[in-house]
Amino acid sequence: MIEEEFDAIVVGAGMSGNAAAYTMASQGLTVLQLERGEYPGSKNVQGAIMYADMLEQIIPDFRDDAPLERHLVEQRFWVMDDTSHTGMQYRSDDFNEAKPNRYTIIRAQFDKWFSRKVRQTGATVLCETTVTELVRSASGKVIGVRTDRAGGPIYADVVVLAEGVNGLLGTRAGLRKMPKPESVALAVKEMHFLPDEVIEQRFGLQGDEGCVIEAAGTISRSMAGLAFLYTNKESISLGIGCLVSDFAQTMESPYVLLDAFKNHPSIRPLIAGSEVKEYSAHLIPEGGYKAIPQLFGDGWVAVGDAAQLNNAIHREGSNLAMTSGRIAGEAIIEIKGRNQPMIRRNLALYKTMLDKSFVVKDLMKYKDMPALIHTNSRNFFMTYPQLMSQAAQNFMRVDGTPKIEKEKATTAAFIKARSRWGLISDVVRLALAWR
Ligand SMILES: Cc1cc2nc3c(=O)[nH]c(=O)nc-3n(C[C@H](O)[C@H](O)[C@H](O)COP(=O)(O)OP(=O)(O)OC[C@H]3O[C@@H](n4cnc5c(N)ncnc54)[C@H](O)[C@@H]3O)c2cc1C
Repeated sequence: MIEEEFDAIVVGAGMSGNAAAYTMASQGLTVLQLERGEYPGSKNVQGAIMYADMLEQIIPDFRDDAPLERHLVEQRFWVMDDTSHTGMQYRSDDFNEAKPNRYTIIRAQFDKWFSRKVRQTGATVLCETTVTELVRSASGKVIGVRTDRAGGPIYADVVVLAEGVNGLLGTRAGLRKMPKPESVALAVKEMHFLPDEVIEQRFGLQGDEGCVIEAAGTISRSMAGLAFLYTNKESISLGIGCLVSDFAQTMESPYVLLDAFKNHPSIRPLIAGSEVKEYSAHLIPEGGYKAIPQLFGDGWVAVGDAAQLNNAIHREGSNLAMTSGRIAGEAIIEIKGRNQPMIRRNLALYKTMLDKSFVVKDLMKYKDMPALIHTNSRNFFMTYPQLMSQAAQNFMRVDGTPKIEKEKATTAAFIKARSRWGLISDVVRLALAWR
């Protein structure tokens, strides 16, 4: 297939792989990037909010030609029960800045653009090529890969595993374990097409302004999960995801949850009259800090979702993927610059650099959150959303009941549902996990 030996082979052309390949090739390293999809992005699923700062650190002028949908000026957080939502929302004209901070994107288009940039740096990018195996030396160092194409192995000083959440290659090679069902969510997503002026009118937007909604509550049927609705130029992406272990236990179907979300009285009017053209399903790593596997070894590093680097609490993944890919690339460039071999001891530099970044710091901050949410999902995703809705309705309904009685009724409802100690313990545990 390819006789040449490369400085680095990157497995995968998603956010993390493209960031790593771009970083290394733009500094003169010889890079081969292998992607199993027909084209970069063809296999990839994201909501998708893209965080500009992290891309700017790789391609500063990306706004000139990247396929961006809308820049976000408004975010709504909804706690839903079956007929209502209790919401918090933030909107600011400050987000109409010259270089907006967050954009919605469509990954199939965005990944193609990113890959074009990678090719322009001189990297060799091969699609429709699945890496089937890592090749090791007699001492166990990873020295290359085998693919499903004809021909022998391809060799490189270092292999960057950017193969996404499943990480089959790394797992098969014994570099990491399969993610546990309580550490990954299964998300389903649909794209609903509507004319741009309808989207702008329904969400109160002008021009390229965008709005996103993140929602939790009874829509996930007491499983640990979240739903989302993001505005693109001429489409709305919406979806829902819950932990795989919860799906297995409850035998709920993701499609049924998505249908219920779409038909919720708060969502239905927002997508009325739309045409559904795309449907996808994908896993999301949600185990947080404690689920991060070994990140480097002799001749290899793991980045992005393959390294479980995903901040489920803040619904951030692509920015952690781009940053870990960039940092892995920078570490490899530095080691090569020192003429040192790509062995475990030297590649530890990647982890040292990553530990100093927001990626690990953010995941470490919320390290107890995934377990807390998972083990208390009935309270957080069923009991409290129902209580919040009751309390809000009780407060807003003016029916001659004295306010003091309304307050007592709300307090009594919370105590009846959770008991005093239950409430105190939930607040304390949440505060401890959040601190
Ligand atoms: C429904 C959903 C909504 C999301 N919303 C958001 C959001 O709004 N904002 C956000 O920041 N993040 C979001 N995420 C998370 C985000 O999508 C991921 O964190 C991000 O895509 C990770 O990038 P990656 O490059 O590590 O992996 P991926 O994007 O999954 O890329 C991996 C690539 O490797 C390729 N590959 C795999 N195995 C092989 C092999 N053996 N050989 C060759 N190629 C291979 C795949 O085809 C793929 O192209 C969402 C995820 C989902 C599922």
